[in-house]
Amino acid sequence: MKRLSITTRILIGLVLGIIVGLFFTSSPGTASTYIKPFGDLFLNLIKMIIVPLVLSSLVVGAASTGDVGKLGRIGIKTLAYYLLTTAFAVTLGLILGNILDPGLGMTLPHDAKVEVSKAPSIVETLLGIVPTNPVKAMVDANMLQIIVFAIFIGIAITLVGEKGKPVLNFFDSLAEISYKIVAIIMEYAPIGVFALIVPVVAANGPAVLLPLLKVIITVYLGCALHAGLVYSTLVWLFARMNPIKFFKGAAPAMMMAFTTSSSSATLPVSMESSEKNLGVSKSISSFVLPLGATINMDGTALYQGVCALFVAQVFGIDLTISQQMVIVLTATLASIGTAGVPGAGLIMLTMVLQSVGLPLEGIAIIGGIDRILDMARTCINVTGDIAGSVVVAATEGELKRDITSK
Ligand code: ASP
Repeated sequence: MKRLSITTRILIGLVLGIIVGLFFTSSPGTASTYIKPFGDLFLNLIKMIIVPLVLSSLVVGAASTGDVGKLGRIGIKTLAYYLLTTAFAVTLGLILGNILDPGLGMTLPHDAKVEVSKAPSIVETLLGIVPTNPVKAMVDANMLQIIVFAIFIGIAITLVGEKGKPVLNFFDSLAEISYKIVAIIMEYAPIGVFALIVPVVAANGPAVLLPLLKVIITVYLGCALHAGLVYSTLVWLFARMNPIKFFKGAAPAMMMAFTTSSSSATLPVSMESSEKNLGVSKSISSFVLPLGATINMDGTALYQGVCALFVAQVFGIDLTISQQMVIVLTATLASIGTAGVPGAGLIMLTMVLQSVGLPLEGIAIIGGIDRILDMARTCINVTGDIAGSVVVAATEGELKRDITSK
């Protein structure tokens, strides 16, 4: 019998997980005690491989470019793509928020309390990308710092020449081994995805979701539109890639992002999907994707646009056009500073609300359903990263076109 593709197997795990989760809505505790550990096992396995994978593949990627100018060009393209698509995403979120009025008719519950964690400032974020101790960066799995360190090693290997070869061979071998470990872990993905989604569905029954259905629909619709309009157009325009092929190729990573709500934890799968299914070269994907998992968050930005309007509507505040433009700017910056872990976008939402003087109490309402919104926005965050890798690879002549997506 022909074995089902990994995409199909993960999809089956996801759908079964949603169905089984519905049966547990009356006893979410049982789901989290007995089923969640199998999901956590999967997350731990994936997280185990992130640091060696990113470090080794990026060192090899940077060294094989063999030219600092090319690396700089790729960097600028990547950043431009990330910033523009993110700004578009917030704008789309604001437009939908204005049309669909998700906060109209809602009132603040009396017991609404906020515990606001402090969002890091932009300068802190920028300075923080250079590691003062690369080993600590690896211990903390700080992706931006690892990227900077890996690029330095890669460039230096090229400059050193012959003497750098043994280190390059070491990282090359480590990268191959890391890819193999990812492939082994992915065999467990369908069960992992199933076990991750069951407790989430169980904990978010109709009683939790229904009152805020309008916000949920607005965010999900926005995410679908952003993917359908922006990514389809970009991969077609720059890479002449059929959008269906693109989404099929990105599907394992999209499902993984949806269930884990973490761009970082999805990174090994995004890299595999973009290389194996879409034909992006290792040197591009190993640079564009780790960077994207950390700074490119289109879904998060879109969500922040919708939520800012939602909060304004709940409090009966009219936002002027110029205030909404401030939101575009702050949400774009905030999404760069958002870590690729569950719930990080909610913390950064404080920054966006504060930028236009909206009451932070609004966050208490969103908090109750944030996980459900997080699943959609993380899925879009990761899809945006993968689309970015396709676009940059195509413009650098580093896209293999004969790949047929499974
Ligand atoms: N969970 C999102 C991510 O990992 C970040 C967020 O909370 O918006 O991409």
